[in-house]
Amino acid sequence: MMGRLDQDQGQLFYSFNLEEAVPSDHLVREIAAVLDLSWVHGELAPHYPPIGRPSIDPVLMIRMLIVGYVFAIRSERALCREVQVNLAYRWFCGLSIEDKLPDHSAFSRARNERFCDSGIFRRVFERVVGQCIAAGLVGGEGFAVDASLIAADANKRRSLPGGDWKKKAIDPEGASRAVKEYVATLEDASYGAASPVTPKFVSPSDPAAQWTGAMKSAAFFAYADNYLIDVKFGVIMDVEASRAIRQAEVGAARTMIDRTEACFGIKPEWLAADTAYGSAPNLEWLVKEKGISPHVPVIDKSKRDDGTFSREEFVYDKERDIYICPAGKRLKTSGRLANGGATLLYMASTYDCGPCPLKSRCCPLSPQRRVPRDVNEEARDVARALAKTEAFAQTRRDRKKVEMLFAHLKRILRLGRLRLRGPRGAQFEFTLAAIAQNLRRLAKLVARPPPRRTAGCVA
Ligand code: SF4
Repeated sequence: MMGRLDQDQGQLFYSFNLEEAVPSDHLVREIAAVLDLSWVHGELAPHYPPIGRPSIDPVLMIRMLIVGYVFAIRSERALCREVQVNLAYRWFCGLSIEDKLPDHSAFSRARNERFCDSGIFRRVFERVVGQCIAAGLVGGEGFAVDASLIAADANKRRSLPGGDWKKKAIDPEGASRAVKEYVATLEDASYGAASPVTPKFVSPSDPAAQWTGAMKSAAFFAYADNYLIDVKFGVIMDVEASRAIRQAEVGAARTMIDRTEACFGIKPEWLAADTAYGSAPNLEWLVKEKGISPHVPVIDKSKRDDGTFSREEFVYDKERDIYICPAGKRLKTSGRLANGGATLLYMASTYDCGPCPLKSRCCPLSPQRRVPRDVNEEARDVARALAKTEAFAQTRRDRKKVEMLFAHLKRILRLGRLRLRGPRGAQFEFTLAAIAQNLRRLAKLVARPPPRRTAGCVA
């Protein structure tokens, strides 16, 4: 006999246990088992007045935001609607089925005031990384760094040509929050100071967003999401928002390496990155200043494709500080710097080059051959030597783990476009997404859900 659902939903009294309603293998249980926010009240206490009407519990808001980023519900309005009806989310947030939810507007107020002043999400991120370290998920031997472009909340059609954008005409009183943040970051290495070049277009609503055509499709406004990961299990060790240009991404990588060392006392033995990080000054910083082996392809424009000898065919003799050319002659330097102090020039003698049988393949248009050498060439040589090792082939594969995290970020967590404006908005979203990704990783690898106190019981 076909069964029919009893349509009577008017039952007045019933027994309900929220703890039992949440499946034992639900992701919220695994994340709840590894997420400890017991320290939050103590940390935020100085940011709340001692008297007056009690605020919304900050731990509740943090838990709700974590739910939002773990399950790709970034709109706070949609998040409130989802937590209202989803029993698993209610259980994770510590709400009973009768508890009222905060209004969505409370999130933006808290984000721009107490959460921002206290840096609480940075603290949550660091605590989660600390738990990953304690659980043995961080090897500390090798790191990888990369950046991914995330579209900004900026309308292309309302943009201005970069030359028409007048920074000095901004009224600090009447400007929006995103514009004030842009002005505040003009001297930052990750933003204004990264490049003196005027961008082609500027968005008046979010001027820190970078106009970029780097994706080889139609240009758009974007921020760069920078990740520094430990390659053992792909734990995100640090996250930083920056302008979407190479100089800013390299600056962000340095900031993250320094911060990870200061915060966790971990400095990797080697760093894997793509060619964008292979400039001579950056390799010098890694090798000489930090003592980190650069598993990074070198940016090298010395290769010639006109059939004449490239620089690699000249052998450098460190002892004598000379180059030896393919004909066995010496190229010396006078010590004079060129190219804004970045290069030393080594010159062959016209007496050697004039009668040389190889001249047509070496310097057919000039009386003698010149070979430039970057002042940081030693660090480049270290990176070149590493690139020929078997270890480099492995670290190249390890580097893919960062790309996989960015793919997960965009496809599963749906962070292809920012919802918030300004450098702080981008930092807030990237930090929460990194917390969500680390928590998912931690939960998957180590969580064993312990029995938990009943959160709601109605009769
Ligand atoms: S042309 Fe001059 S630098 Fe070039 S191979 Fe001959 S001697 Fe050496």
